[in-house]
Amino acid sequence: MTAMQWFFGFLKKYRPKLFLALGLVTMTSAIAVVNPYISGIIVDDVIKGGNRKILPLMMLIMIGTTILRSIFRYCFLLTFERSSQNMLYTMRDYVFRRFLEQDFNFYNKNRTGDLMSRQTGDMEAIRHFVAFVIYSIYENTLLFVIALVMIFTVEWRLALCMIAVLPITAFVTYIQLKKVKPAFHNIRQHFSSLNTAVQENVSGNRVVKAFTKEDYEIEKFAIENDGYREAELKAAGIWRKYVPIFEFLANILTVILYLIGGIMVIKSDMSIGKMVTVSGYLWMLNMPLRMAGWLANDYQRFVTSVEKIYSTIVVEPTIKEPENAVEKKRFKGDIEFNHVSYNADEEVILKDINFHIKSGQTVGIIGATGSGKSTLMNLMCRFYDVTAGEILVDGINIRDLDLSSLRGNIGMAMQDVFLFSDTIEGNIAYGRPTCSFEDVVEAAKIANAHDFIMQMSDGYDTIVGERGVGLSGGQKQRISLARALLKNPSIIILDDTTSAVDTETETLIQNALGSIHAKHTVFIIAHRISSIKDADQILVLDNGKIIETGNHEELLEQQGYYSTVFHHQYGDFDEISSSGVSSVKGGNASNISSSGVSSVKGGM
Ligand code: ATP
Ligand code: MG
Repeated sequence: MTAMQWFFGFLKKYRPKLFLALGLVTMTSAIAVVNPYISGIIVDDVIKGGNRKILPLMMLIMIGTTILRSIFRYCFLLTFERSSQNMLYTMRDYVFRRFLEQDFNFYNKNRTGDLMSRQTGDMEAIRHFVAFVIYSIYENTLLFVIALVMIFTVEWRLALCMIAVLPITAFVTYIQLKKVKPAFHNIRQHFSSLNTAVQENVSGNRVVKAFTKEDYEIEKFAIENDGYREAELKAAGIWRKYVPIFEFLANILTVILYLIGGIMVIKSDMSIGKMVTVSGYLWMLNMPLRMAGWLANDYQRFVTSVEKIYSTIVVEPTIKEPENAVEKKRFKGDIEFNHVSYNADEEVILKDINFHIKSGQTVGIIGATGSGKSTLMNLMCRFYDVTAGEILVDGINIRDLDLSSLRGNIGMAMQDVFLFSDTIEGNIAYGRPTCSFEDVVEAAKIANAHDFIMQMSDGYDTIVGERGVGLSGGQKQRISLARALLKNPSIIILDDTTSAVDTETETLIQNALGSIHAKHTVFIIAHRISSIKDADQILVLDNGKIIETGNHEELLEQQGYYSTVFHHQYGDFDEISSSGVSSVKGGNASNISSSGVSSVKGGM
């Protein structure tokens, strides 16, 4: 399918209405011949011939056709406007759904600003085409043809002279279309970059302020702003060259009429009335010529936008719903990773991962930053597909599972907390909007969020911004945890969820979570030993590989990475000193950064 076929697919539904409207355009254009024709009769028969009796009838016809033209125009304008808005509504909806279908890879590769431009500026160019350009091209072509035919019937020699401008017009329009196309692509590119610059600065304004980089950002924005202006000016520079040519061609017609027509009248080859008639048709020839350049521009703008949108939505998500997908309402939560490896862009992220978690078990995952912990969970949710091996949930390969069944059974508190612009209640109930308020409170209590929510002036009705403005990092994490818990999933993933919470609160959360553990398989990713030490099984990841497994005691006995991190965090200074990391001495055990942990490993 080409971009244009895709676009016309949306227009299909409105075809009958648009054809009806084009019928009205045809009638409006056809009626346009009446007034100049009558003007000629008035000059020849009434003014020169003295036949005054027909004057009232002529005036009546002129007024009648003018009113009729206005009514027809109103009707077709309304039809085109409504059809364009309705079609755009469907198209926006479709594009939005396509965006939602896309996987993590798509969002890793596309800038938010680009995607925003697809839904705003590009859609507007398409709307303008449907609402205005389609009928304008048709109406102007029709007016031109009708006027020529009428002039032919009045005075064919004059018409032949006027027709001479046609090939020149067609040629110039073609050249303009060709030249202006890359310029419009360039404009869309710069518009996307400009959008991205604004979006990133709005989202990241706290970082900008913290680093007092306002001047730097203004300079960066000025470059984008400048780029966009230059792109627009460059396109304008191209079509500016062509506008005078069309203007010249339009004026040439007037010259032809008065020069050649004048000579014919003087020589009595043509009556003054006929000359008046032809001059009445002149605007029908002039207007299309003047409009040609502008319409060529609008058309190219539209084509560029359709191509841009199409190239974004045509990308097939790599994560696809399997054929004959297995649907399951509730899983037990038995998880098995068999020789799972994952590469991204040739880079090995996870290598030969094997483990088996039984339903209801709690799993701790620990490892240096960038070791692949989050990726492991992303693979289980099928946000990415494994490169090799298989992941089984309740014995079924997740590639055979219905995606909603799989993800519906997983409650994830992501490392990167995102809260919607909604009330706290709305955010917690996001996964189960129909649940009762009591359920929301219960989830908030387990996540140890209830108390601080109640302290807020509006309690659960407090509106939090898209990034949870006004909430502390730990508060956001606890709302995100409550949101994951309220889904009542069989598998819970807590990715660094208590990293910003003090150890005392963390213990309270762990105790509360303990009471619901039996019903869920829980994965806890953490850098703090305290977060995972009670887990049934702990996986230690390093550089994409599992280097140790076991429970807390078993891992301590192994005297490996885990044991080192434990002593590091719990302050066994002698052992740490002997592993060569003297700088950790005296450091606060629970706040040691993961890079510190890495350095311990490096010293081993
Ligand atoms: P942290 O403790 O900091 O959260 P992590 O163990 O969760 O770290 P991951 O987010 O799983 O680490 O990332 C593991 C590695 O994979 C990193 O080096 C990261 O840069 C890389 N990575 C993750 N996702 C992708 C991706 N989609 N494309 C390319 N590289 C990726
Ligand atoms: Mg992570």
